[in-house]
Amino acid sequence: MITLKSYLRGEWVEGQGAGATLVNPSTGEPIATTSTEGFDFGAAVAHARDVGGPALRAMTFAERGAVLKTLSKAIHTHRDALIEASILNAGTPRSDAKFDVDGASGTLAYYGSLGKRLGDARWIAEESEQLTQSARFFGRHVWVPLQGVAVHINAFNFPAWGLAEKLAVAFLAGVPVISKPATATALTTFRMMEVLVETGALPAGTLQLVCGSTGDLLGHLGAQDALAFTGSADTGLKLRGMHNVLSSSTRVNVEADSLNATVLTEDASDDTYQMFLRDVAQEITQKSGQKCTATRRVFVPASMIDRVQADVAERVDRVVIGNPAHKDVRMGPLATKQQLEDFRAGVAKLVAAGATVVHGSPTEVTVVDADASKGYFVGPVLLRADDPANAAAVHEHEVFGPCTTLMPYETADEAVELVARGGGGLVVSVYGDDRDVLAKLVLGLAPFHGRILMGSKKVADQAIAPGLVLPSCVHGGPGRAGGGEELGGERGLRFYMQRCAVQGDRALLDKFLG
Ligand code: NAP
Repeated sequence: MITLKSYLRGEWVEGQGAGATLVNPSTGEPIATTSTEGFDFGAAVAHARDVGGPALRAMTFAERGAVLKTLSKAIHTHRDALIEASILNAGTPRSDAKFDVDGASGTLAYYGSLGKRLGDARWIAEESEQLTQSARFFGRHVWVPLQGVAVHINAFNFPAWGLAEKLAVAFLAGVPVISKPATATALTTFRMMEVLVETGALPAGTLQLVCGSTGDLLGHLGAQDALAFTGSADTGLKLRGMHNVLSSSTRVNVEADSLNATVLTEDASDDTYQMFLRDVAQEITQKSGQKCTATRRVFVPASMIDRVQADVAERVDRVVIGNPAHKDVRMGPLATKQQLEDFRAGVAKLVAAGATVVHGSPTEVTVVDADASKGYFVGPVLLRADDPANAAAVHEHEVFGPCTTLMPYETADEAVELVARGGGGLVVSVYGDDRDVLAKLVLGLAPFHGRILMGSKKVADQAIAPGLVLPSCVHGGPGRAGGGEELGGERGLRFYMQRCAVQGDRALLDKFLG
């Protein structure tokens, strides 16, 4: 049995008591424990603010970026060990584990390069603007790092990328981090933190790790701090409603539930249709559908729905389910017993709302090299709701696993209206080849989403799937999706910085701010 430690104030520390138990989701067997009981979180926050913050603010963007590059390389060097940890504790086959681990090193490398581009500065100054008739009196907006700590709370589905993507942005902005992975899959994060600490590249106090409960950590947050959370809407609501967070206007960024959709149009060429099928099948099965960006609702022209149903079913049937360590397996179990129970209850909720299971089963699954009665396995489940306007739960309840609901629509306006019922999403994808229809969909859907992937024949063999989050594009969405924004290149840094309008003599502004 492994005991996970936390990394606080430059030391690996163990909590008291039995703590929480982590299991192998493929077998249900316990593999590790972790506890944070007895930790002094106030001292950890003070360490970040007093030691880590000043160290980071003394560094230029280029110097911070160089550290991120070192961290990225270290993760890449230890890639196989991290993938093994992910297979064991998150139940992810090698391909899914790579998606997480390579995403971590890739995002750190991207922000490392951005640091190099931002160069020797320590803040970001916008162009100056004339404020009055005077040719001397100008104003200039400058972005400077907050002087507190960034607390990052991550979900169970990306134990490596979750820490890295949030760290990359805060670190480059100049703010020290205390990161907390979801306890259930924290083994990969713990191993990754060992790798990061071993590099010796992290200045003291710039990164701390909490494996297990946060105790009273969040109660220490104040006006110069930031809280970035990924997980359920319920927890997000609880955290942003904390008294100290509200009373001191602590910055909060929430990535929560999202009923991501895809829309196929009638004019799609064969290449575009194949792209659509490939993406839908991937979004249902990759990471067993446990991705915040996975496609939960598929809208297709009413005349095409039977064909789409048969083609998607045929695609997902190709995916081998079972022991994630087996070379042929492409889909592992869900991450926890609770997720399996929630998945089954969620499918039942969609059925009660008027959807029908048209392929697969939430309770029966055939697995390779595993015992389906012990692990948290489930196969892809395809639902269909022929009256989407009267199936409210399909647009409101996110079933966090390998399932999606097919729905018909008649006009582009109706498709937009149905997608918008999701209440705000991280990503929507549209597939078609008629420019006017695509334009109508994109502009109609943009107010409700953080990102739109547009599939058409010219990019059919070049585009990424909608579930892939790139560091250069914004990740986040309005409404139900949490209202947050992460990544997006330089845009992501702003969450950790204060924008201040400085007014005065233009010559002095330019001299001071560069
Ligand atoms: P969760 O229960 O909200 O947990 C997310 C994170 O918050 C975990 O690190 C958890 O720690 C922590 N947490 C929970 N309560 C807390 C509290 N009172 N104070 C401080 N930290 C707290 O969500 P989940 O179990 O990971 O996933 C449940 C649902 O969230 C999914 O079914 C899905 O709908 C949604 N989800 C969304 C995304 C997304 O990116 N949008 C990603 C994953 C999941 P512990 O693990 O220690 O409890």
